[in-house]
Amino acid sequence: MIQQIIEYNREFVKKESYKPYITSKYPDKKLAILTCMDTRLTELLPAALGIRNGDAKIIKNAGGVITHPYGSVVRSLLVALLELGVQEIMVIGHTDCGVQGMDAEEMLEIPKEHIDIVRRSGIDLNQWLGGFSSSEESVRETTAALKNHPLMPKDVTIQGFIMDSVTGALTSIC
Ligand code: ZN
Repeated sequence: MIQQIIEYNREFVKKESYKPYITSKYPDKKLAILTCMDTRLTELLPAALGIRNGDAKIIKNAGGVITHPYGSVVRSLLVALLELGVQEIMVIGHTDCGVQGMDAEEMLEIPKEHIDIVRRSGIDLNQWLGGFSSSEESVRETTAALKNHPLMPKDVTIQGFIMDSVTGALTSIC
């Protein structure tokens, strides 16, 4: 598949198909979105929100969560806010998320000794790789963590939503 993608890419550039996408690094809508890497949202989320190339910084991971208050998600959001002119953040969970109900120890299928070694090195696997019980709850927690983060500028608007993975309908959560 990667080879096919490389060939497609050569044609894309040769035909100058990139021209409609030319924009700057500063998001026109002064917006950042933290959401899930779910493949159903790849095109649906920007289409359903009316977001085009150049409009918003979109940060994605499994579940659209913050796993560490000083990890890459918060770092990316702070760069977007402090360097790139972002003023508003949307945290967008979605229905039928793959991270919901995930169990780290079941998923890894590794011997218990290995899990104990990881635990002794100070990593709580179930917290790090585990899922959340509800997308709504996860969005609430993530939004609150961002609002209460000591480095978060106080004038930033932060709101949480759930998107329907089929219709793209947005429900405001917090
Ligand atoms: Zn998801």
